[in-house]
Amino acid sequence: MPTGARPTLTQFLIEERRRHPGATGELNALVTDVSLACKAIARKVAFGALADMISAAPQPAPGVNVHGEEQKALDLFSNQMFLRANEWGGHVAGMVSEEMDEAYTLPPQYPRGKYLLLFDPLDGSSNIDVNVSVGSIFSILRAEVPGEDAKPEDFLQPGTRQVGAGYAIYGPATMLVLTLGTGTHAFTLEPQLGEWVLSHPNLSIPEKTREFAINASNSRFWEPAVKRYVDECLAGQTGPRGADFNMRWIASLVAETHRILMRGGVFMYPRDTKEPGRAGRLRLLYEANPIAMLIEQAGGKASTGRKRILDVQPECLHQRIGFVFGSAQEVARIEQYHEDEPLDSYHSPLFGKRGLFAATA
Ligand code: MN
Ligand code: MN
Repeated sequence: MPTGARPTLTQFLIEERRRHPGATGELNALVTDVSLACKAIARKVAFGALADMISAAPQPAPGVNVHGEEQKALDLFSNQMFLRANEWGGHVAGMVSEEMDEAYTLPPQYPRGKYLLLFDPLDGSSNIDVNVSVGSIFSILRAEVPGEDAKPEDFLQPGTRQVGAGYAIYGPATMLVLTLGTGTHAFTLEPQLGEWVLSHPNLSIPEKTREFAINASNSRFWEPAVKRYVDECLAGQTGPRGADFNMRWIASLVAETHRILMRGGVFMYPRDTKEPGRAGRLRLLYEANPIAMLIEQAGGKASTGRKRILDVQPECLHQRIGFVFGSAQEVARIEQYHEDEPLDSYHSPLFGKRGLFAATA
């Protein structure tokens, strides 16, 4: 075996399929197409600031996406890679992307398949200039009517209905982390063979952790439950938790998720009061749902802070949501604090009004 007894992605998918005698292999073909898009994006991202020099085809002009975020040339390239890799094969009936306002209708010449593909083609791209790890996130749902164009509302399925989810991370090593509902498995791209090789089967997130990740610059907008949780972590050994915690913040969802899958921890981008009327920062359909499935399949928990992410009924394609995930015990504790604390009820006993994380501004 050229990969040293470790299965490739292709072998892994074939073996998974053998366990489901009714399976047609279409899901495997779709995952393979997605993984090809990720390889192409990995190569492009690796050129960094030189990427423009080597592109032969004229690039679409970057603008502003539906979320009001600046689009980078690499966002658009990555979006194109996902569309081109997946539109022709007859496996999908429609696609939704962070970088497109509307659901994507396949070109007329291609057959419509039985799955829906939802993706964030390049996550963390606002930080790409600093050469931090970025990635691509994807979610797979069943089409309502296989063989026909998907309607926009067909994508509004709760995350529990995902048949698969994953991300690729473009870091020092390129990796693909995948679940098809039977555990979460990580593949490392073997650069000489260009093959995904199973390097981390059956990932398992430790139940407990002493590490949390949150954007502390938003602390004045946090809800009482989040303030309480973070205050208690910061109080360390002398506080109610009786232990010192580490804080992490990469501002790249894929990189944060990867760290938590590899060694535990908890991530919070909770609902806050910064922009009233906006339920959170991250997108439900192509960020929170796929990450939540990967986390649960690895034994962790993923929540809005109040309820399980995968049970949320989506209302629109680009819906945002508060997102808390990671080690099961910590996520359960944060949910409990939300239940305990009515809004505006918590004032930090540790830091008071003059503290760094004061409850009132
Ligand atoms: Mn993103
Ligand atoms: Mn993105």
